[in-house]
Amino acid sequence: MFTSKSYTSSPVIVQSLMLSVRAFLRRRLRENIRCEQLTNILLNHDSNEVLLQGYSEHKLEQVLTDATRNTLYYKNFGTNINKYPYIDKAEVNRNKDQFLSKNSKGILIKGSTSGTTGSPLSVPQNMESVIAEQAFINRMMRWAGMEKKDKRAWIRGDMIVPLAQKKAPFWRYSYFENMIMLSSFHMEPKNLQGYINAMVDFGVQVIQAYPSSIVTLAKYLEVNNEYYPGEIKSVVTSSESLTKEDKYLIETRFKCTVFDWYGLFERVAAIASCEYGRYHILTDYSHVELLPAGKTEDGRDRAEIVGTNFNNALYPLIRYKTGDYVILSNETSCPCGRVYPIVDSIEGRVGDYLIGEDGQKVHILNHIPKGVDGIIALQFVQVIKDEITILVVSDKNLFNGKQRLILTNNAKERLGKSITFFIEEVNNIPRTKNGKIRQAVCSLK
Ligand SMILES: [Zn+2]
Repeated sequence: MFTSKSYTSSPVIVQSLMLSVRAFLRRRLRENIRCEQLTNILLNHDSNEVLLQGYSEHKLEQVLTDATRNTLYYKNFGTNINKYPYIDKAEVNRNKDQFLSKNSKGILIKGSTSGTTGSPLSVPQNMESVIAEQAFINRMMRWAGMEKKDKRAWIRGDMIVPLAQKKAPFWRYSYFENMIMLSSFHMEPKNLQGYINAMVDFGVQVIQAYPSSIVTLAKYLEVNNEYYPGEIKSVVTSSESLTKEDKYLIETRFKCTVFDWYGLFERVAAIASCEYGRYHILTDYSHVELLPAGKTEDGRDRAEIVGTNFNNALYPLIRYKTGDYVILSNETSCPCGRVYPIVDSIEGRVGDYLIGEDGQKVHILNHIPKGVDGIIALQFVQVIKDEITILVVSDKNLFNGKQRLILTNNAKERLGKSITFFIEEVNNIPRTKNGKIRQAVCSLK
């Protein structure tokens, strides 16, 4: 809808009305009595291990039984999950139709993974599945302290403001949801104070954002030595990986707790952080196995997230290897009292990388801008071997020659002294069509 001519050519107030009506209709479909009941069931799992385990075991058995009965791929596999093979995106893509349940009733909703690597995967869902997903989101929002009437800010890559628009307002209102929606695509330094003011004027209490969008605002506040001048209950992030440094930066500048959600379109795993910063594997969302995957640089255990979805009978994915990793934790209980197992952190999808001087792929790049003043956002671009351009959105007063030198030296340390780095100052980092920022764009294999 947002890119249609009728939307882009309408006045701002009409755009707000159009997106309010859309939100109202979507909400009526998803947030019905069933969704509310399920939300309450899920909330009861938080502190009750017996309930949680009973629910999860029942779900798993149901998924395996249905898959055996209704799909070609899993014909005759039975109810012992250990007999099932591990699968991945490529395997599902090769056998697309065999995963589709012959018992497919109701509305079929198709969506696909975005993913920076490999071919996208299309996963059909039914309305049941959409409602269940909403119930899990509702529980997460309750963890974050949100109440029904709270005013929300939403900065999650919706094309609510046409790109051609160069002047504020870069936000619209969704009246039924009590929400201000801000564009992820117009976050140039000169516009950011306007973003903060619009959120304060609206009286925002909870923020739901892409990490890259909210970090841009937090960096802007940090660079100007300021704090968000309103009272926020919490910030809820998802859809991109969030580093510990960025989480801390948001929490400091917005003076509240960040609740981070890891999920993926295949719906085979969800991991949510609590007010104590622990990441809990939501074992009522899916069946998760953690496959050992070696150690980190500092000797901690890594594991790949492998999941079985509980809430998509239309397209069961069993023992699906996500290609995402967690760092394991020694903790067996959390001060928050919730009984879900804990992992230390999630390593984002190993997708974005640069090629170092010895031809090695370097994935971890978030240390490079550390200790450099005046950077609001950045992205690495590599088209030729031994040459890397760093796009930087900066505060011009702080990002001087000395800071440029620190940035280059940090980069050389990670990627190699023989590589030439070019720093290019830009007003905005190019975003993907979903409004996300990629850390690195490398066209070399
Ligand atoms: Zn906890």
